Amino acid sequence: MDEGLNDILIVGAGPVGAVCALALQQQGVVARVLEAQGADVRADTRTLALSHGARQILDRLGVWARLDGVTPITRIHISQRGALGVARLSADELGVPALGYVLPYAVLTAVLQQALAESCIDVEYGAAVARIEPGVACATVHTAGGRALTAPLVVVADGGRGDTAPVPRFERDYDQTAVVCEVQTELPHANQAFERFTPEGPAALLPKGGRYAPQGDSDFLRAEARERSYALVWTARNVDAQRIAALPDDAFLAALYRHFGGRQGLFLHAGPRKTFPLKLAWTGSEAAARVVRIGNAAQTLHPVAGQGFNIGLRDAWELASLCGDTLADEIGDTAMLAAYARGRRLDVLGGAGFTDFLVRVFSNDSAPLRQARGLGLLALEALPPLKAFVARRMMFGARG
Ligand SMILES: Cc1cc2nc3c(=O)[nH]c(=O)nc-3n(C[C@H](O)[C@H](O)[C@H](O)COP(=O)(O)OP(=O)(O)OC[C@H]3O[C@@H](n4cnc5c(N)ncnc54)[C@H](O)[C@@H]3O)c2cc1C
Repeated sequence: MDEGLNDILIVGAGPVGAVCALALQQQGVVARVLEAQGADVRADTRTLALSHGARQILDRLGVWARLDGVTPITRIHISQRGALGVARLSADELGVPALGYVLPYAVLTAVLQQALAESCIDVEYGAAVARIEPGVACATVHTAGGRALTAPLVVVADGGRGDTAPVPRFERDYDQTAVVCEVQTELPHANQAFERFTPEGPAALLPKGGRYAPQGDSDFLRAEARERSYALVWTARNVDAQRIAALPDDAFLAALYRHFGGRQGLFLHAGPRKTFPLKLAWTGSEAAARVVRIGNAAQTLHPVAGQGFNIGLRDAWELASLCGDTLADEIGDTAMLAAYARGRRLDVLGGAGFTDFLVRVFSNDSAPLRQARGLGLLALEALPPLKAFVARRMMFGARG
């Protein structure tokens, strides 16, 4: 069956696909969304660090005010293990309310799902896309259920995991895997995030509400426990990651203390561990005629600088703005897609390059590099303009 439509089709109702659909509607452009998972099975334990720029986008869509459980990051402490050099970024010093925000992925997707429903945007859950056929006047999407849908523009926001993914134009395997879980520390987080570089890879602690108050404790103790909760992203070599993740809790907490140090006192509790292989894969937005890729479908980055998701949101926002500025019968044509790719290039390649630089320069044990890194951190600590530059890049991306 061929369901011919003039609406834009979005593949994937993850945060990037959902934001794209809402932003298109604000521009007066109609979009339909196909999501592989069912409406009620969207659980995901990932934690996202949102930049200030991402907050502004969610604000403009009326989503930000509805998010519960957002933890602002007001300070970031950056250090390297076994060498000199510490840099501290502070929101006060930079004159912004927060350097970033920590949010469970599941909270964001649930609120976006509700916003899509309230906006009467047509989202079909449980509709996995098996194949996308590019075309001159329209592209055709084939679902796993055997349907064919045509659209003047197909926006692929499937996180890059679908069968529709082309071979990346650039790929780097860092031989690193992220071990992620929630941990509770002896000292309260006071909204401070930590980034600690080690030769095996960076370890990050992001402050967030938690759920490790022992059963039966009073509300006061529960609130206290939340103030000591962090999302941990511990990057390890591939060969070590599964072993670390499988350690019993006590051994895991002790190994984490040795790895991270005692800045937050002891590590008291650890939640269930998950592992994610880390790599850089840049596919680019130009998939084929009448097809554009955004978010993780276009670029997958190492989480060290928290850039991946924020770049994805800017992809969605800019694509929707461009569609709004384009005549209806020119949406999805070659000129529009080339303009989109040109417009996104600096931000995407800037973010990917910045992230790749951090991973490669900080993940090794060469003595001269260790000293150079120490000097770099000291310079970052001492030079306000450099601090402002780095913070701005983290908050708003390469186009500042
Ligand atoms: C461990 C980890 C930690 C991270 N931490 C951060 C961080 O701190 N800050 C940050 O900015 N980024 C972070 N990221 C990256 C961030 O999670 C991604 O950038 C973000 O989720 C990308 O959103 P997306 O909508 O493009 O893709 P996804 O979130 O992957 O969503 C894709 C959607 O498409 C659907 N889908 C897939 N295939 C199909 C198909 N064939 N048909 C229909 N639907 C389909 C999926 O079900 C899903 O709902 C992290 C990633 C990982 C793995």
